[in-house]
Amino acid sequence: VIEIRDLHKSYGALEVLKGVDISAPAGHVVSMIGSSGSGKSTLLRCCNLLEDSQQGEVLFEGEPVKWKGQGLDRRPADPRQVTRIRTNLAMVFQQFNLWSHMTILQNVMEAPVTVLGRDRAEVEAKAREYLEKVGIGDKAEAWPAQLSGGQQQRAAIARALCMEPRALLFDEPTSALDPELEQEVVRVIKDLAEEGRTMIIVTHDMRMAHDVADHVVFLHQGLIEEQGPPAELFGNPKSERLRQFLSHSA
Ligand code: ATP
Ligand code: MG
Repeated sequence: VIEIRDLHKSYGALEVLKGVDISAPAGHVVSMIGSSGSGKSTLLRCCNLLEDSQQGEVLFEGEPVKWKGQGLDRRPADPRQVTRIRTNLAMVFQQFNLWSHMTILQNVMEAPVTVLGRDRAEVEAKAREYLEKVGIGDKAEAWPAQLSGGQQQRAAIARALCMEPRALLFDEPTSALDPELEQEVVRVIKDLAEEGRTMIIVTHDMRMAHDVADHVVFLHQGLIEEQGPPAELFGNPKSERLRQFLSHSA
């Protein structure tokens, strides 16, 4: 679904991604791990073009992003292509970013209705279905502030699902949660993995990274230091840096 080749990204003089390849084929789950500042969020944001990049390719469904300009001036050339990619790669953040002045149902319905121009009644039926699916069907009329952190994050996942995207991108979806609430969200993500959804999940939760992924990528200082199937990467890490990282995050 999404593929990145040899991606380079700098913020001014700071080179954050130094030639990274990553791909999430349909039905695959990729976990991305690595220390703070290694470039995980940046890479995720490059996938859906929330960030520009200076070099390398981004492909959505095999179709390369068209660029104009070069180096620090490189930008996507076709706004319609950007919209298509962005609406098809729904992002879930650490801070759930629900709109506080809208009910949970309105939050879930907002983008499909206003961005995709879908029929309101159909979207509502779907929204209720997704809220049911993440276990908060009874919270449709509640306000975000009335929900626990775990419930808010599940609402954010329902909101992403309601876009019916081709893939889901998670940036540390459980990091803001207490351990008990974290498990509710992990459960939902596991269910989505079992359904065969395409996902890239950045996480500090090694248990989840191991359990849900087909493929794990360890990012270190803007480069992929090691990658492979979870059993190998966690069971038999080859790089010394990965071994150290895992021993600190156990
Ligand atoms: P964490 O685990 O803490 O979330 P991360 O792996 O997601 O870390 P990034 O957020 O991708 O790391 O940041 C990578 C590097 O890029 C860091 O050195 C960070 O300071 C820098 N950086 C990120 N965003 C910006 C920005 N908007 N402007 C300048 N530098 C940035
Ligand atoms: Mg981050």
